[in-house]
Amino acid sequence: MNIAHLAAEVRPFARTGGLGEVIGALPIIQASLGHHVSVWAPLYQQVRREAEHLGIPLEWTIEPFSIELGYQTHNIGLLQSKLPGSNVSIYFVGADPFFDRPAIYSPDSYGRDDGLFRFAVFVRAALKAIPMLAPAPDIIHAHDWHTALAPMALAWDQPANPYYKDAVSVFTIHNLAFQGIYEQNQYLYLGLPIDKLAASSWREHINLLKGAAIAADALTTVSPSYAREITSHPWGFDLESVFRSRSDRLVGIINGVDRNEWNPSKDPRIPCHYGLENPSEKSHCRRALLTMAGMDPDDSGLVIGLVGRLTEQKGYDLVFPVLQELISQGFRFVLLGTGEPEFERQVRAYSHSARTKFWGYVGFEDTLAHWIEAGCDAFLMPSRFEPCGLSQLYSLAYGSLPIVNRVGGLRDTVEPFTGANVLTATGFELKSPTPSGLLETLNLVKVCFQNKLLWNQLVHNGMKKDFSWQRSAKEYLSLYQQQLYEKQARRPSSQIGW
Ligand code: ADP
Repeated sequence: MNIAHLAAEVRPFARTGGLGEVIGALPIIQASLGHHVSVWAPLYQQVRREAEHLGIPLEWTIEPFSIELGYQTHNIGLLQSKLPGSNVSIYFVGADPFFDRPAIYSPDSYGRDDGLFRFAVFVRAALKAIPMLAPAPDIIHAHDWHTALAPMALAWDQPANPYYKDAVSVFTIHNLAFQGIYEQNQYLYLGLPIDKLAASSWREHINLLKGAAIAADALTTVSPSYAREITSHPWGFDLESVFRSRSDRLVGIINGVDRNEWNPSKDPRIPCHYGLENPSEKSHCRRALLTMAGMDPDDSGLVIGLVGRLTEQKGYDLVFPVLQELISQGFRFVLLGTGEPEFERQVRAYSHSARTKFWGYVGFEDTLAHWIEAGCDAFLMPSRFEPCGLSQLYSLAYGSLPIVNRVGGLRDTVEPFTGANVLTATGFELKSPTPSGLLETLNLVKVCFQNKLLWNQLVHNGMKKDFSWQRSAKEYLSLYQQQLYEKQARRPSSQIGW
């Protein structure tokens, strides 16, 4: 099959979280299974910087071209490279007025959110360039609201754009909290027929994610539980009826772990290597982490790691109200993240006031994320909702028991310890999604941690789990096949060539 992925983030060039990780890994596995795969992303300032830093060449490909959108002509340049360690082509769509900005999701120079327009330029330019570079794609796989225009254009531009008439569109929701909601008068910037306005409207606004949810041939999200949760309130974020109406086209496919990046037995970023055969070597990573954090490396008390966006979604509003009490009880925390200013402020304040018990770094630091996953005893991820979550998968692989809320992908990937499942449990779940529930749970975890036989068994169970990209990639491929088959079956018989 010919598969083109369109996304706003891709590791290692530009990413803020899980979306970029997925786009940096899934296409490579699909290609290794014998398919022709390409990736399309915007040419941000950060892409040039990272490529230079990593020594990855970016080359001009086809001649610059232009697109018409919003009564304006936009000049587009296309740079090409490969996803590292693979033969997968990645094309960066250059349109400097939109992407030559300090951050991936930067506003324009007046501070306005022009996301609808900039990502519309990206998608329209990609859809124009794809026919110039590759055989007609079987699958256009768009990810999150930034690329929602792709399935809409494939469905609604017809018959004006026959090139894509046989292509199947797949739209993956990585996080429904972000939908791309803009003033309705911006609709014309999408270049779609006006009679489709209603299909992408929501509360007198344009909702790009809703448009894609209606237009795409197939809809996926990143875990089976999350696929169920978004069909009802509150996790459907007001689009639950749309998802219910498309439930025959909605599936959940769990993300995988990129074992080239996240594997404690060969991870070049961590101070010491270990695995299922020698799990006790993890203690060297723990010692290095505690020393770096200025904490006593000989103190055998529980060390809890946290890495991720400092937001309510990730449950930080549950953590901070009881943090002081936990610290006084002797718990130690090592945290890495960026996010809401109030949470960032609290991280800095605790790092100062509770220096030997709480170490926090506000920033995005790859190596530190690996150190924390490898060096902590337990990994806290009390998300309020979680489409899939990658960090808990890494913590399973690194022998750091995840403590999670039983939602979405966390429910599908962590088996909580109940007292009766010693041979299969891989982590802990919060008694309730409240600060007091968190307090109670952490005290239970502390008791389990003191029982080394039990703890080591749970660590072993977690490290044995295999959340490989191979499995996810095969599930996506069979979904593509099925959609191609159904699309062909839906075509009038006069158009079928056999
Ligand atoms: P999200 O909802 O943010 O996508 P995930 O758990 O799916 O959450 O993925 C988050 C990814 O981003 C993980 O690989 C995690 O290690 C990484 N990450 C998040 N915040 C940071 C940070 N501040 N520094 C380094 N890596 C980070």
